[in-house]
Amino acid sequence: MSKKVLVIGEVRDGELRKVSLEAIAAGKVVAGGGEVVGVLLGEKVDVLVNSFFQYGADRVVVINHSALKSYTTDAYQQALLQVIKTENPEGIILGHTAIGKDLSPRLAMKLKAGLISDAIAVETNGDETVFTRPIYSGKAFEKKKVKEGIIFATIRPNNITALERDDSRNGEIKQLSVEIQDLRTVIKDVVRKAVGTVDLSEAKIIISGGRGVKSEEGFKPLQELADVLGGAVGASRGACDAGYCDYSLQIGQTGKVVTPDLYFAIGISGAIQHLAGMSNSKVIVAINKDPEANIFKVADYGIVGDLFQIVPILTEELKNV
Ligand code: FAD
Repeated sequence: MSKKVLVIGEVRDGELRKVSLEAIAAGKVVAGGGEVVGVLLGEKVDVLVNSFFQYGADRVVVINHSALKSYTTDAYQQALLQVIKTENPEGIILGHTAIGKDLSPRLAMKLKAGLISDAIAVETNGDETVFTRPIYSGKAFEKKKVKEGIIFATIRPNNITALERDDSRNGEIKQLSVEIQDLRTVIKDVVRKAVGTVDLSEAKIIISGGRGVKSEEGFKPLQELADVLGGAVGASRGACDAGYCDYSLQIGQTGKVVTPDLYFAIGISGAIQHLAGMSNSKVIVAINKDPEANIFKVADYGIVGDLFQIVPILTEELKNV
């Protein structure tokens, strides 16, 4: 049966985030030939409607409101509940990002709906929609379906492929005005830390360093390798705790969960809590001087040796590719 599915877009730096484009593709599967409606919230966000259409949305609902300029739980929840009430969808999809993780359980609770979080795949089986999600820190996968009510899911970045961009597509745009009141939080200003240009959760290539990197200075060769490969720099908690880099780079159970095409673990021992954040990467390369390091158990390629010798050689070689 075809369905109406809302895909809630996430805007960053004036662009629709890649995970929102992936959410449109997931929305198409859930809709089963029905309608995928993009939802754009923010202040002066109309310019982004085309991204929704180019990647497969049939219609876009736009909400411009000064209270939506920066994300706050209260304002976004109030606005989205009004969209959901107006549209009455059978499905809702959004990215499993910091915002998605904050919003989705609150919305699900208000809608008295179940929530399938952190899905990495979605398929239809007859009339049923089946999601796959990792469990036990990525050691196993479970299949989940919604038996009744709204099909509400968040999707992990970098797992579901966005549709091919098609500039010829367009559709209906609906402006919706919403009431937002009694806000408990107001964002006055946002000061962003300068920690790399590529978003870790969406990066295709990640170069991660651990305590073995030994200092903030020691991360420079990793940054150079990342620059050559167009990747992002990540870190273990060991490196963050030691003050070599910012906690926003931490990957693992209490950091970010990433699924890049290529993950370099450099001077990282491979503790279970680190593996929880990266073991589903498509290809893992480990560089460690200890041949018994646990990281080699999950690595597709391993180099045993001193990272300070190996990383610069690798960077030089890759510059010539
Ligand atoms: P180490 O374990 O000290 O490993 C350093 C590695 O570098 C060693 O294998 C060593 O052989 C190698 N090395 C040293 N010098 C060189 C060299 N010159 N060349 C090559 N290799 C070298 N950790 C996370 O990463 N992410 C998390 O989210 C996280 N969450 C946690 C949550 C909880 C509740 C707990 C208890 C722990 C958590 N941890 C997390 C910490 C985790 O248990 C480990 O302590 C941490 O991952 C270790 O970091 P590391 O591998 O960088 O350091």
